[in-house]
Amino acid sequence: MCGIIGYIGKQQALPILIDGLKKLEYRGYDSAGFAVHSGEGVVVKKAVGQVANLEKAILDSSFQILDSNIGIAHTRWATHGVPNEVNSHPHTDCKQRVFVAHNGIIENYKELKHYLQERGHTFTSATDTEVVAHLIEDFINQGDDFEKALKLALNMLRGAYAFAIIDAENSAVLYAAKCQSPLVIGLGQQEHFLASDPSALITHTKNAVYLNDFEMAKISAGEITIENIRREPTDTKVVTLEWNLEQAQKGNYQHFMQKEIFEGPETVKLAFAGRLHEAGVKLGGLEQVKEKLETIKRVIICACGTSYYAGLVGEYLFEEIAGIPVETHFASEFRYRQEPFEPGTAAIFISQSGETADTLGALRKAKENGLLTLGIVNVVGSTIARETDAGVYNHAGPEIGVASTKAFLSQITVLALMAEYLAKVKRPGLLEELRNIPGKIGAILARASEIEKLAEKYLYHKNFIFLGRRYNYPTALEGALKLKEISYLHAEGYGAGELKHGPIAMIGKEFPTIALVPGNGVLEKMYSNLEEIKARSGPILAIATEGDQHISAIASDVFYIPATLEPLEPLLTVVPLQLLAYYIGAKLGYNVDKPRNLAKSVTVE
Ligand code: GLU
Repeated sequence: MCGIIGYIGKQQALPILIDGLKKLEYRGYDSAGFAVHSGEGVVVKKAVGQVANLEKAILDSSFQILDSNIGIAHTRWATHGVPNEVNSHPHTDCKQRVFVAHNGIIENYKELKHYLQERGHTFTSATDTEVVAHLIEDFINQGDDFEKALKLALNMLRGAYAFAIIDAENSAVLYAAKCQSPLVIGLGQQEHFLASDPSALITHTKNAVYLNDFEMAKISAGEITIENIRREPTDTKVVTLEWNLEQAQKGNYQHFMQKEIFEGPETVKLAFAGRLHEAGVKLGGLEQVKEKLETIKRVIICACGTSYYAGLVGEYLFEEIAGIPVETHFASEFRYRQEPFEPGTAAIFISQSGETADTLGALRKAKENGLLTLGIVNVVGSTIARETDAGVYNHAGPEIGVASTKAFLSQITVLALMAEYLAKVKRPGLLEELRNIPGKIGAILARASEIEKLAEKYLYHKNFIFLGRRYNYPTALEGALKLKEISYLHAEGYGAGELKHGPIAMIGKEFPTIALVPGNGVLEKMYSNLEEIKARSGPILAIATEGDQHISAIASDVFYIPATLEPLEPLLTVVPLQLLAYYIGAKLGYNVDKPRNLAKSVTVE
């Protein structure tokens, strides 16, 4: 959560910072602010709400701030303190020397604040972040230079942080530090950039260095020095950013979410590109652990949100195709379990950003228990990608819409490839059909206007239930999540067989069911469940396979999708659900790219 951007070099810093904030805004949009060095010292500006409000505040202000070559900026997702101007970042110390932009949570901030207050420091905000500025100041007061004071302060912090920091008395250095929250340094010619996420860097450079936990960087225009604050060795690698600018722009679409749904065919293609061969699936990222994988007896999948639902689809895929027992866990709960792990267990961690704090916590627990760890991650070089033993990248390009859409498709594609890779007996026709999926998603998208009309019809309802069985049970959960996230309507996903064990009590004229009923082995059971709903006057919107005549006699509305193999069905059935959520959210007038209370890349626990 929260976006940090920093710049040092020859260019004017402020336009770069504002542009970077706009690219990072999907990470948090409670408030925004910056601090830049100008001829008269450090100038700070903050505004509540979106970055556009900060831009307006700059235009309205009278001071001359453009002449600056170093600065930091922040777009906030509040954890401690309401989203007002005072709590906006950057935060500073009593003497206004230290300016700090922070992503994360300082867990011991209360005791530090108390200690600093006792020593005479005066606090202005309610944030956890402000203690960091005062702590650095306190060490400087004791005679340490800025760099030493920063190091000493960092060593006193508990929790998660990515910091961009400037010193009012030195306009030639930008400081950065990281523990758990992501931070990447973009390398330019006599200039450097700092960002929470590479999507803010790709306009400027393709070369970047990811900071590791407990690393601190001293960045000047021409040089970077990185050191570990615990005096452990550092492992600095320059990575090439794969993404291009066009991928990170909206183009002719109204919203990123819409663009990303329409990128579905390309997303699936990119996820299997270069991985399908005559002899089967080749996954370069797993080669180094191939032998270990041949003997695994059990798989655990850990993820959050949409990635968790992709993981649930993975459970069915692995068990059916590879014959390996799988359990999928919420990463946030996996950490509390005390289960004994047996040798031969592999754990897979799914995260679009590769920075999800809960998933990272689960990964670290798995490593402590000696499990083989694998990642399914979109962002190359991200923390989960670096910390797992091996893994498979999604290659989905940047996902900017807060509600995940194309990442889900790429995660399921990768899980299907992994299941086939692990299978001793290959599933006939699976890979051939996977090649057909992009065309079939394209055919669904070509009829998006039908879903748009259905959205107009259903948006008046306040409650929805999404139903499916087997592979479409997790897809139903994902469909309900999408609707909740961007339209703020109540929606529940359920396994259709569970309906009669409780939720059926809710069914009535005002409670529509969105039913996933493609032509598979559970079709007749689904028909029966839908008859039960119809008998209780519940409206039904069915997603069914082309040619299914029977369903139109049961459902109030039907949207037809092409036929496919059952294990690949979620790749098709989820698309109309994504479109439905998108159109309902947009038609209700909400900013679907920035749903309230949410942020992409959840880097706090
Ligand atoms: N914990 C800090 C705050 O509430 C930073 C939150 C963030 O990552 O945006 O201000």
